[in-house]
Amino acid sequence: MAKILRKPRLLDLVIKAIHLCGWDVLILSPQGAHPFALSVFKGDSKVSLLVYIWNLTYGGYPRDSNEFRIQVTGVDQIEIREGFQTLLLGWADDLGVFAGFDATKHQVPMSGRSPSIQIRKEALEKAVKNGFAPQARDNNEIAIAFRPGFFISYVLGASDLHQTSAAVLESKALERISKAEAVDFDLADIQPQTRRQVLQTMNRKIRDARFRANVLLAYGHRCCVCGLQLDLLDAAHIIPVEHELGTDEIKNGLSLCALHHRAFDHALIAVRTDYTIACSNKEFQRLRSIGWHGGESEFKAALRDQILLPPKKEIHPAPEYLEFGQKLRGWAN
Ligand SMILES: [Zn+2]
Repeated sequence: MAKILRKPRLLDLVIKAIHLCGWDVLILSPQGAHPFALSVFKGDSKVSLLVYIWNLTYGGYPRDSNEFRIQVTGVDQIEIREGFQTLLLGWADDLGVFAGFDATKHQVPMSGRSPSIQIRKEALEKAVKNGFAPQARDNNEIAIAFRPGFFISYVLGASDLHQTSAAVLESKALERISKAEAVDFDLADIQPQTRRQVLQTMNRKIRDARFRANVLLAYGHRCCVCGLQLDLLDAAHIIPVEHELGTDEIKNGLSLCALHHRAFDHALIAVRTDYTIACSNKEFQRLRSIGWHGGESEFKAALRDQILLPPKKEIHPAPEYLEFGQKLRGWAN
């Protein structure tokens, strides 16, 4: 039986998810009252949210046991507030995923009723695996299940998808994307353009999550340059993914801690084709000349002679990628 969480704990989970996405949040509702009015922001981007959230529980007998639902209790109506984006969410604590429903499709006053809104267990499980999974509901609505790390993507993108009529084509495209078969999937026949961009962004996000998981696993969750773990790791593309030759193969990736990722991207360090680690004399000289070389010796002492490598040779960084990646970053020894 799923654990039932109280509202403050659900608010906590929402805030954690927002932070996980690298965004900040202010709680606007007095004493954190439900629905939660939140201001979420990062840099110049800011969105005001009105968040309704309930626990997702099993449908149970006589309902289908493959169905989860939220029971909309304690509110008179799902409010659509000027300047706010209304989120209608469920949380499945057993699975650690959210479900998002289309608030505009649930506008009937509750007046004593507490209607339930369902999502298939299959969609939730797919989201556990892939990060994100849509499900067409029979009221012409697309429900979306997503992991906490996709919270902001959901806010920015998928809500647009909710607010369009749930054309079969789109839900099909979303399903393919959620299975990440979509690498070469032709999105061109999906209109309008903004929706296409949303789909492409989601697609990229899912691919990034998969690339990260694959690379970190291959390197035993260690920085290949210094051996650090501490959950401070990135999966860096050797040839950046924005480049037409950038791929999501493990051999185009390096597991790097935040510091060495930055140093690698700034061409302060490089990985030679024999996997030894090089420091850019030219760049260190420049830093010395302007007096910004504090920590140089400690930095250099922390570097291994050679990077850590995955046990399987076929996923070692491809030498030609290393060479080309250095050229792109303007590496100079
Ligand atoms: Zn490191």
